[in-house]
Amino acid sequence: MKIAILSGKGGTGKTTLSVNLFSCLKKATLIDTDVEEPNSHLFLKGTTYHDEIVYKKYPVVNHDLCTLCGKCGDFCNFNAIIPAKKKVLVFDDLCHDCGGCRLVCPTNAISYKDKKIGNIYYQSIEENKQFLYGKLTVGEISGVKIIEHLKNITKKEEILLIDSPPGTSCSTVAAIEGADYCIIAAEPTPFGLSDMRMVVELLREEKVNYGVVVNKSNLGNNDIYEYLEKEGIELLESIEFREEFARIIARGELLVDHSDYVKDKMKNIIKKVLGDTYA
Ligand code: SF4
Ligand code: SF4
Repeated sequence: MKIAILSGKGGTGKTTLSVNLFSCLKKATLIDTDVEEPNSHLFLKGTTYHDEIVYKKYPVVNHDLCTLCGKCGDFCNFNAIIPAKKKVLVFDDLCHDCGGCRLVCPTNAISYKDKKIGNIYYQSIEENKQFLYGKLTVGEISGVKIIEHLKNITKKEEILLIDSPPGTSCSTVAAIEGADYCIIAAEPTPFGLSDMRMVVELLREEKVNYGVVVNKSNLGNNDIYEYLEKEGIELLESIEFREEFARIIARGELLVDHSDYVKDKMKNIIKKVLGDTYA
């Protein structure tokens, strides 16, 4: 079963939820697909036993064959290839490696070259626990290729947790694609509710089952609970804010190693999503 953990914005406790759920599972693989700012590894402190470079392809134009017909530029949605007056310009940072420009070129003037866009790190945590995270190279615009690679490597895992990028971008869509269930980490503030609604819309479009965990439940207001009830969305758990939690997180430690309260909450979420046998 593939379970994605996501949030409408950063800072809602998505990674905290991911790593603490992972820690409470007897057997699981966790992937951190927030490749622009991965931070699950700061809490899990595993040993890296392998790292792999991820490449993307970008177009190279043979100007002797190019007739400046403009078809590649018309096709590209990302302005990564632009036929100018005298030659075709390629902006490899903007290229999303879709392969389309070569297909539409009538003179076979386009070939592709590889470019490094990031890394994937494999870590062993303990027996039956594996953790992988991706890191996008500074200056690269899209981490989708790395996310797809992470998902492909782990597609046969029995229990896969996917720490997704925040928001509703292409990266988030790539992270949740194929998920059997999504857990939205939210907080009970006006901004938290507004951002969560966008995630709910995305998941409705993608037709994925989901539930919500409300973090810092003792702060903010009741609007989020009223919204969940009105929309018939399952509230998986609500977890209150305590100053000691902030200190534990700031030290890069797992809440479940220090708090039975949080451990019980994590086990309850696992039971609701996966059933008793996994908690
Ligand atoms: S491969 Fe796709 S994204 Fe990249 S330049 Fe060609 S059309 Fe644009
Ligand atoms: S589609 Fe091919 S021939 Fe036309 S402008 Fe692009 S590279 Fe040149």
